[in-house]
Amino acid sequence: MPETNAPKERPSKDFSRSLLRWYEENARDLPWRRTSDPYAIWVSEIMLQQTQVKTVIPYFLRWMDAFPNISSLAEAPLDDVLKMWEGLGYYSRARNMHKAAKEIMDRLDGRMPRTYKGLLELPGIGAYTAGAVCSIAYNQDVPLVDANVKRVFARILDMEKPVEQTAATREIRGLAESLIPSGKAGLFNQALMELGALVCTPKNPDCKGCPVSVHCLALKEQTVDSRPVLPPKKKTQALEVSAGVCVRDRKILIQKRLPKGLMAGLWEFPGGKLNPGESPEQALVREFAEELEIDIECGEKITVIQHAYTRFRVRLHVFWCSMKKPAQTPALHAAEEIRWVSPKELDGLAFPSADRRLIQMLMKDGIPA
Ligand code: SF4
Repeated sequence: MPETNAPKERPSKDFSRSLLRWYEENARDLPWRRTSDPYAIWVSEIMLQQTQVKTVIPYFLRWMDAFPNISSLAEAPLDDVLKMWEGLGYYSRARNMHKAAKEIMDRLDGRMPRTYKGLLELPGIGAYTAGAVCSIAYNQDVPLVDANVKRVFARILDMEKPVEQTAATREIRGLAESLIPSGKAGLFNQALMELGALVCTPKNPDCKGCPVSVHCLALKEQTVDSRPVLPPKKKTQALEVSAGVCVRDRKILIQKRLPKGLMAGLWEFPGGKLNPGESPEQALVREFAEELEIDIECGEKITVIQHAYTRFRVRLHVFWCSMKKPAQTPALHAAEEIRWVSPKELDGLAFPSADRRLIQMLMKDGIPA
């Protein structure tokens, strides 16, 4: 469809009334909706980024049990924080919350900032999270634009420009702000997100049951299926990786990833990517030699684990292995720390999902003496 700059009709305040009425009758009872504690709102909104509500609920409940307030989070070791986050992905979210909690304790006497600007100064808090805390916890008239809200307004406005463009986000934010009923930003923002989650879904939106359908230009123009305009999907990269379960005196060698980069601070079984033309066994021997300065004997293959991360599809070839000279001390070229741990100790540490699946398998099948 050709792009047009012709001004389009914008929804009126009636939009907000219909939306709030619908929300009153249809809002789901979610744990973070039973509180106005800014800390709990912050935690829930960070967890909800890129993650579905049903996945977040048990994580949120466990987190609030373990770290019920900012000071308990700030005082917790980072290892415990990452363990609590294990499986949620995008681990920088947990690391940043930990950093921000420490900063709130050190710089702000343990109190969360009460302004949008003050919130934005904390690590990991962007416009979306600051908008959520200001509107939901403090009921300030601040808009909140997440992926659900963008989708709803891209359809309401029948927006032809890609929704991720800065100009599109600015336009949506401006419209959302203009529609906030004074003093009801918290409810309004949550109602918009709920509409996006339950009715105006990415596929097969329920336009017949939509409380704001009379305001929807995409419905009128029959362009719902092509709104929002999204950027082309990034291709995921396929990776072949080897990992070794190196056992000595019934203890297993694990290493902690460096504090910066992908899955920083998580524990893993040593190994690495295959070079072109290399077999998984050769890659494993080379990686142990390069990164840990250990000569290993590569033993039987334990399994191959396939796992999809956001940007990668990993095929993890796992082998038993043993040190040729058991007295050798591993070096730290690509890890922050190494440990020899008992199988039981593996449970208390945070691992990437593929390694966690391997641990479950090892627990079931047993570790050789
Ligand atoms: S009418 Fe359909 S496309 Fe338009 S806002 Fe409602 S659910 Fe979304």
